[in-house]
Amino acid sequence: MRLRNITGSREIIGESEFVIHDPEGQKGNWPEIFGNNNPIHIEIGMGKGRFIMETAKAHPDINYVGIEKYSSVLLRAVQKIEQEPLSNVRFIRMDAEAVADVFDMEEVGRIYLNFSDPWPKDRHAKRRLPSKEFLARYDRILEKDGQLEFKTDNRELFEFALEELEPAGWRIKNVTFDLHHDKEMMEGNIMTEYEERFSSMGNPIFKYVIVRQGRG
Ligand code: SAM
Repeated sequence: MRLRNITGSREIIGESEFVIHDPEGQKGNWPEIFGNNNPIHIEIGMGKGRFIMETAKAHPDINYVGIEKYSSVLLRAVQKIEQEPLSNVRFIRMDAEAVADVFDMEEVGRIYLNFSDPWPKDRHAKRRLPSKEFLARYDRILEKDGQLEFKTDNRELFEFALEELEPAGWRIKNVTFDLHHDKEMMEGNIMTEYEERFSSMGNPIFKYVIVRQGRG
């Protein structure tokens, strides 16, 4: 996924009005950025941005913030949105470890994780975006009744993610081990770049929707 040596990617990103260059300075201030009080939904590890842009087009009354660690990847999303501007979308280039420095308590209505990197070695488990360490960060920024949606084709990562839920204080609202053959959960599904690639290879797609225990 990471595209190296793209000349000028930092400059193009630096000049884009769709990229928030001082994300820590926006904590609690997101309604001002969007010019309205609509709910804020975020995607962490958004890659080239297809999912967040398609979702934003389908829901103009929701504001979307996409977070991506690498400028060489974010560049692709920036190039797309510059061609087809969407007033309800902004991007941040950052490591999601700092997500609670960028959004205030309960400032976010929904979190999306799509095809997160698996980090297969046990010693890297804390880096997995659905890990209990990350769930604790999400717990701070997500509304009490907010939900988190996670899709992947990686069975090991999905099983790990399921095991992390209970000790971290979350519970399953919906789950499927074959999203594309699950009529109910497939309703309104928007494909990500990775989802298209892996489902076309015949891989089943796993998905859960989770909420806090005792809520939702
Ligand atoms: N979500 C996209 C999709 O489904 O097509 C991209 C999936 S790709 C496998 C994972 C993306 O997450 C990469 O672009 C990677 O750079 C980004 N990523 C991984 N760890 C991250 C982190 N800690 N913070 C922000 N982005 C991260």
